[in-house]
Amino acid sequence: LKLKSLDEKRKQVLNKIIDTKGSIRVFCRVRPFLLTERRPIREPVSFGPDNVVIRSAGSSKEFEFDKVFHQSATQEEVFGEVKPILRSALDGHNVCVLAYGQTGTGKTFTMDGTSEQPGLAPRAIKELFNEASMDQTHSVTFRMSMLEIYMGNLKDLLSARQSLKSYEASAKCNLNIQVDSKGSVEIEGLTEVEVMDFTKARCWYNKGRRVRSTSWTNVNETSSRSHCLTRITIFRRGDAVGSKTEVSKLWMIDLGGSERLLKTGAIGQTMDEGRAINLSLSALGDVIAALRRKKGHVPYRNSKLTQILKDSLGTRSKVLMLVHISPRDEDVGETICSLSFTKRARAVESNRGLTAE
Ligand code: ADP
Repeated sequence: LKLKSLDEKRKQVLNKIIDTKGSIRVFCRVRPFLLTERRPIREPVSFGPDNVVIRSAGSSKEFEFDKVFHQSATQEEVFGEVKPILRSALDGHNVCVLAYGQTGTGKTFTMDGTSEQPGLAPRAIKELFNEASMDQTHSVTFRMSMLEIYMGNLKDLLSARQSLKSYEASAKCNLNIQVDSKGSVEIEGLTEVEVMDFTKARCWYNKGRRVRSTSWTNVNETSSRSHCLTRITIFRRGDAVGSKTEVSKLWMIDLGGSERLLKTGAIGQTMDEGRAINLSLSALGDVIAALRRKKGHVPYRNSKLTQILKDSLGTRSKVLMLVHISPRDEDVGETICSLSFTKRARAVESNRGLTAE
């Protein structure tokens, strides 16, 4: 019996190591109650440093994470935990930071933040420039692109020409996803701007976000039904003669709302938009689950989102998923769905033995 429990213990420790050293890390952030919301006497969500417990209808479910950010966590604290992954991007890995969750749980707050409380994207861009300026042995340059995926269409958010057109017109512009012989994904026709300093990069970022929101008539409703992707391409060349340029990508992605359709009572266009988001999020979940199984083929082809991220999810890449949840009683069903989705994402170690489709 003693041997068995020792074995169990060893397994647990091993699993923990695989989990935390894996190339996919999953953090959870719980949104605080808003001023307009009533705090229940018995809150449905409770948490520790790396676990969340959801209580509903007399039972409770526990979910483990690499890190949990409580309601009082500041933007600085969240960024502090994300910072090491930026180092990986500068070291030549493709990196993907994804904000996942139901609409209204704080994805945009985490990624963009406000002018007083800037979010991950502006902080990450600033950090990249800081790190690059301190690198004595390499010259590092950055290019930036932004795009939106809506109902399977790609929209270039940094093209001056397209920002003037209606969404429908610009979404029709051909942006083709290509994979080169080295397996690197390129989006043909996507604007890529060279950004020389933080201020310029921030301007471009704000512009992209503005173009995204002004394409819609009802910002709050519709922007939650599209994915917004920001890509920083990093070129790093050693100063020695004959040094090669290493290229890596940092993706920062504000995913569309993960809420289920039945609950929202969506009809018509709204229903189609919701369905498109659900399909691409489940394609993302399938890719991650396949990577986790470490064998069989990885179904990248099933959505534009996973096609674009093919070289940034999997071997040699680092993925950080931030799942956002609501503290409210009425959102418990969605909260459990979001937490269950991200449970699949943990523990991807490497994808040896996998084939990509
Ligand atoms: P989403 O992008 O998931 O739809 P938002 O980022 O728009 O959600 O957040 C919904 C509301 O909650 C906004 O008013 C936002 O300012 C607020 N909010 C979200 N997270 C936090 C947080 N950690 N601290 C303070 N306010 C937050």
